[in-house]
Amino acid sequence: MAIHWTEAQIEEIVKAVVANVAAAPKAAEGTYSSTAYAGRQLIGIYETMEEAIAAAECGYRAVRAMSVAAREKLITRIREMTREEAPIMAALGVAETKMGRVDHKTAKHLLVADKTPGTEDISPTVRTGDDGLTLTEQAPFGVVGAITPSTNPSETVICNSIGMIAAGNGVVFNPHPGAIAVSNYAVDLINRASALEGGPRVLVASVVKPTLDTAKVMYAHPAIRLLVCTGGPGVVKAVLSSGKKAIGAGAGNPPVIVDDTADIAKAAKDIIDGCTFDNNLPCIAEKEVFAFDNIADALIDGMIKNGAYKINAQQAEALSKIVLVDSKNPKTGVIKKTVSRDCVGRDAAVLLKKIGITVGPEIRCIICETGFDHLFVQEELMMPILPIVRVHNIDEAIELAVKAEHGNRHTAHMHSKNIDNLSRFAKAVETTIFVKNAPSYAGIGFGGEGHTTFTIAGPTGEGITSAKSFTRLRRCVLADSFRII
Ligand code: NAD
Repeated sequence: MAIHWTEAQIEEIVKAVVANVAAAPKAAEGTYSSTAYAGRQLIGIYETMEEAIAAAECGYRAVRAMSVAAREKLITRIREMTREEAPIMAALGVAETKMGRVDHKTAKHLLVADKTPGTEDISPTVRTGDDGLTLTEQAPFGVVGAITPSTNPSETVICNSIGMIAAGNGVVFNPHPGAIAVSNYAVDLINRASALEGGPRVLVASVVKPTLDTAKVMYAHPAIRLLVCTGGPGVVKAVLSSGKKAIGAGAGNPPVIVDDTADIAKAAKDIIDGCTFDNNLPCIAEKEVFAFDNIADALIDGMIKNGAYKINAQQAEALSKIVLVDSKNPKTGVIKKTVSRDCVGRDAAVLLKKIGITVGPEIRCIICETGFDHLFVQEELMMPILPIVRVHNIDEAIELAVKAEHGNRHTAHMHSKNIDNLSRFAKAVETTIFVKNAPSYAGIGFGGEGHTTFTIAGPTGEGITSAKSFTRLRRCVLADSFRII
């Protein structure tokens, strides 16, 4: 039965959890000992990564001893509790990270609860022939070390946990340092679900204060058999250099092409809906548009009707100086523009305010016309700013869109009724996800067919990850026997 949380209850829990995480640095001095909130302790959160891994190993042994039916029952409980506590995690995520939107984060948690595959994703195959029978099973790796992002923090912890447990693994998390409270709240939720279903008290584990150093302990620890990393290019590279089997779900910069056969009014609405979902935090969200010149004005009008605010070239210049800041590579000394953490995932109205424009909450996206080389096109902004580049034909559109995707092979979108154009772009861009005539989130099962994930593994090829992505194949051969024909 669904619990209805009052705003006051949610606020109280959010305050208590955030306050506890603020106290966490004391752990380094040995004085911080519990992560209590609302009168109780978070379960499965440890002072050191070594302790967390030891606990996850116990969790793994417990999962191995469970029947598949017992695992599925536990997952069902995780789904129920995720649905019930989605508003809390959504509010907590926004309060802690200052990014995204509570209503959309609630929807993301419900999506994870409803559409993350469970044990049904694991299926053995059998081959029989003159020489007998061979069985191939999808076996667990053991303890998985998972790195999670700040952009979809608890969504990723829960989605990873369901898939990894369904596959029979244990899990230890090193969450993003900017999203500790909400990520560890989700770890605790999984453990509460486990206890309620007769599973181990600590099924999955995490640390009080995750850092790059705790991540390094995880990479090197002999008990960790698989690393799963959801984050930007730096961390994916670090994980893939670890010498261990790793699944890397890295950055994207999804382009959208709109040609002159598209339903322009629908394309405008779909693009703004997708681009503004959780203030553009999802890695799959529309980041730049390539519009045929002969429909660009109508497309822009349609976007404005759907809550977009168009800024001119000077305003775009001023905004780019605020949302993109110089950052120096400590090793090479090279200075590069990077997105300002104070702007990622913020509301359009907040961003516009920074250049002196006041708008109401009905404005959900900032649009502007730019050239291809503009930083708004080239950088993965993760905020509701959408540059539009005019193109003359499909050749130019595909060439520029493929370049703007930067070879991430992550996600691309197109609005068109011309199947040749659609096919040409899909083939050229080679992305893991290609969405036609819908908002980007249709690509992860939200208003589109198929299961969901918040770990889209382009670089290592697992794609839309699910339980079977976290398994290793094992073969058992019975020679010359066991056929019935
Ligand atoms: P991020 O890269 O800043 O951080 C991810 C995690 O990695 C954090 O826990 C961080 O502390 C850690 N980290 C960073 N560098 C590290 C290193 N060298 N060694 C060890 N750990 C390190 O990610 P973010 O800002 O939270 O998320 C945004 C990025 O992640 C975007 O680029 C987005 O596209 C990508 N992302 C991809 C997917 C996907 O499924 N492909 C999903 C979500 C986010």
